[in-house]
Amino acid sequence: MTSRGWRAYAILAVLSLSLYQVIPDGAWRTTLSVAIGYLAAAATVAGSRRLKPVDRLPWWLFAGGMACNSSGTLAVAAGWSDVLYLAFYPAVALGLALLIRRQYSRSRRAALVDAATITAGLGLLAWVYAIEPALADPDISPLVRMIRVSYPLGDLILIALTVLLIRNGVRNQWTPRGIALSLLIFLAGDMIWLVVGTLGLDVTGDPHIGRVIDTVYLSSFAIFGYAARRSGDTLLEEPAGAPARSGIPLMLTLAAALLVAPAVLLAELIDGTIDNGLAIAVGCTVMSLLVVTRMFQLLRHSERQALVVRELSRRDELTGLPNRRAWVDELPQVLERARLLGEPVSIGMIDLDHFKLYNDRFGHPGGDRLLKEASAAWSGALRRSDILARYGGEEFIVLLPGADLTQASMVLERVRGVTPGGETFSAGLATWDTRETPDDLIARADAALYQAKATGRDRIVGASDPGPTPAPEVVSA
Ligand code: GH3
Ligand code: MG
Ligand code: MG
Repeated sequence: MTSRGWRAYAILAVLSLSLYQVIPDGAWRTTLSVAIGYLAAAATVAGSRRLKPVDRLPWWLFAGGMACNSSGTLAVAAGWSDVLYLAFYPAVALGLALLIRRQYSRSRRAALVDAATITAGLGLLAWVYAIEPALADPDISPLVRMIRVSYPLGDLILIALTVLLIRNGVRNQWTPRGIALSLLIFLAGDMIWLVVGTLGLDVTGDPHIGRVIDTVYLSSFAIFGYAARRSGDTLLEEPAGAPARSGIPLMLTLAAALLVAPAVLLAELIDGTIDNGLAIAVGCTVMSLLVVTRMFQLLRHSERQALVVRELSRRDELTGLPNRRAWVDELPQVLERARLLGEPVSIGMIDLDHFKLYNDRFGHPGGDRLLKEASAAWSGALRRSDILARYGGEEFIVLLPGADLTQASMVLERVRGVTPGGETFSAGLATWDTRETPDDLIARADAALYQAKATGRDRIVGASDPGPTPAPEVVSA
């Protein structure tokens, strides 16, 4: 259907709903109500025509459910109306389940717990005010009892599925919201019906009440029909990197669901007798367990996120090596272990020679590629215990536990030999003197590197022990 078609549908729906308020009771009113329901069903089918045939089934089920439900009035005389009204629930529930199955979901388990919590809260309400009274009513036949219980059960199933549809959906998606709005209005209709019945008002006899309730249902259908306009929405994938939603409406809804049990208890206390103590206790228990489950899920989630953030903050993005922060964090611990074991530790500062020229020649991406390939090759030439990190730019630093200056220069010599692309590096080595601070050790390696650059590059210079006049020595060139 074109957008003009949809505009025409919206106008027609609003006009017919307005006409419904003034049309005389009797055959005309019945005909109009059925026509509005069929119009919504037709719009729902039309909206699904843009989808692939396999994706159309949920929308056909929704349309069928609405058509059945609005045909209910035609079957009142024959006594079949409840069957048609009730057919709405399984048809829509199946349609929703099919949509949910196709949805993208960030966290299905969390959505399930949320849906269960909200349904449990409303389930307690339904039990106390609809299901239990129907079961306990001695004046109705088993069939009528079953029918009366089926409506609130159907409502609960639709609530659970609607919460799942919204929770699994992509943010700002139009269709799930339209469906949720429509079903919320439908449930409000059921609620009004129940309240009116509980108050002992005559729904079928009073034309005004009947008209109000019908209008609520028919508006729900009309909105459903319009929601089908973007039926393809629910098939969309969540865009990568989308931030998580704030969830305030969800929190409020969950809080409201949790408050149902104390509210019911309070209402019964005010009334003077507690008739549903067991139901309230069961409801409270179920909801508390669900909330604890949700808390546990959130804790696990935030722990995982914290680990990911920590890992990201300690790794160099380009080379995948530990970054300067991670390496500097590691150094004091390695020095302390060396002190305890009485073993030597050396560090090496590595800097690619004339890397600026390389960049000029091969471009920045070419330079990046060399950084990646070089760090991979160097890592391969190091011992398992050595820790190579990207110190910044084209500068790397390596921690060599257990290595004195001679062993360290042997290792670094091996590393020098595998530098890719015929490129070279200069390096400064320093062996810990067991007294100096980590910063002093790094400063000595840096000074040795400077010396290596100054004396012609493509070489490894070892720093002598710190003394009054440190004289660096060229280990190899
Ligand atoms: P020297 O032999 O004295 O070390 O000369 P150099 O050119 O290697 O040193 P200099 O400090 O003059 O230049 C370093 C260059 O490294 C400059 C900068 O553009 C480049 N560089 C730093 N980080 C990156 C990076 O992540 N990717 C690329 N492609 N280049 C980088
Ligand atoms: Mg350099
Ligand atoms: Mg440099």
